[in-house]
Amino acid sequence: MSQYWSPAVRELTPYVPGEQTRERVIKLNTNENPYPPAPGVGEVLRDYATDHLRLYPDPTSAALRDALAETLQVKSSQVFVGNGSDEVLAFAFQAFFCHQAPLDVPAITYSFYPVYANLYGVALRKHPLTGNWEVDIDALAANPERSGVIFANPNAPTGHAHSLMTIEALLKRVTDRVVLVDEAYVDFGAESAVTLIDRYPNLLVTGTFSKSRSLAGLRLGYAVGSEELIDGLLRVKDSFNSYPVDSLASLVGIAALKDVEHFEACRERVITTRERTRQRLETLGFEVLPSKANFLLAQHPDYAGAQLFASLRERGILIRHFNTTELNNFLRITIGTDDEMDSLIEALETICG
Ligand code: PMP
Repeated sequence: MSQYWSPAVRELTPYVPGEQTRERVIKLNTNENPYPPAPGVGEVLRDYATDHLRLYPDPTSAALRDALAETLQVKSSQVFVGNGSDEVLAFAFQAFFCHQAPLDVPAITYSFYPVYANLYGVALRKHPLTGNWEVDIDALAANPERSGVIFANPNAPTGHAHSLMTIEALLKRVTDRVVLVDEAYVDFGAESAVTLIDRYPNLLVTGTFSKSRSLAGLRLGYAVGSEELIDGLLRVKDSFNSYPVDSLASLVGIAALKDVEHFEACRERVITTRERTRQRLETLGFEVLPSKANFLLAQHPDYAGAQLFASLRERGILIRHFNTTELNNFLRITIGTDDEMDSLIEALETICG
C-alpha cells in the first residue's frame, strides 16, 4: 500500500495470470498452443526490421481488420482489434458496462471479468451454473435493470460449450444492453455467435489469436459486432492509445489468418489430443468435464486439487489450480503435445499409485 496510489487503486484486486517460468518444465497452465504459428509468420518477421520498425503503425489496423473480416465473413466495419482480447474486454467494459445497474455474469467464469468490474466500479450479479455446467440463461436475463451480460463460450475454466440456440434465447430476452460472448476458445469445437451479429445489434463477440493461432506472445485480440458497438470501442481506444496494435502484430496476424491449412491441422491435433487425454484421465479415476476448449477441467475423488498441483509442480509439470470454493478440488490442464500429455499421465499414475 502506498500513499501515492489513488483511492480506487488501493481497492483493486488485480488478476493473477498463470505462472510463466524460465525453468524447463512441461507447461500446461495457461492454455497456450503447443504447436508453432503458421510458417508464413517467420517470413514476415525477417522483413520487418528494415521495412516497418521506424514508422508508427496504422491506427485503424485496416489491413488486419480486412483480413479478419474475410476470415469471419463479416464487414471490416464490424471488426475491432486490440492488444490481446484482454485489452478488448477492458475497452468493452468501459464502453458498454459502466452503468449504475449490476452486470450479469455466471458465477464460474473467466476470472478477469470481476477484476475489470472492480477497476471500472461496475457491480456484478453472479449466477450459479445449472447442474450440467451450463450458464443459466433464465437467471442471466431475469433482472430488467442491468448494465449488460458477459460470459465465455466455451466457458472458462469449465470448457463447456453452449449452443447457438442457447445464446440466441438469451439475446431474444436481453435487448436493452450489450451481451458480450467471449470466444477465446471457440475454435476448439464450439459454434461461433459471429453469425448472429447482423440480427442482434447488441451482441459483441470477442476472440483472440493467442489460442488457436498460437500467438499468445504477440498480444492480438478482436471484437466483432454491429457498427455502433465497434464505434463505441473505437471511442474508448482513441481516448486511451491510438496504436494498441503494433505493425508487427498486424503483419503476423494477417500471415496467420492466411494459412488456413496450418490452422485446421493444429486445431485438429489439439482436439484429438484432448479427447485422448480425457479418456486416460478417466481411466485414472478422474472426473473430467466435457470440453470444447484447449484445456480440461478435472478432479479426482481421492486426491485434493492443491495436492496434485503441488506434486506435479515438483515433477516439473505446471497446470492450473484455482483457490476458489467451487473449483478448489479441480485442476485445469492445458492440452499440450501428445508427448507432454504422456508425461503428465505418467506423473499422475505415479502420484495416484
Ligand atoms: N478470455 C478468456 C476466457 C481467456 O481464458 C483468456 C486467456 N487468459 C482471454 C480472454 C484473454 O486472452 P488474450 O488476452 O491472450 O487474447
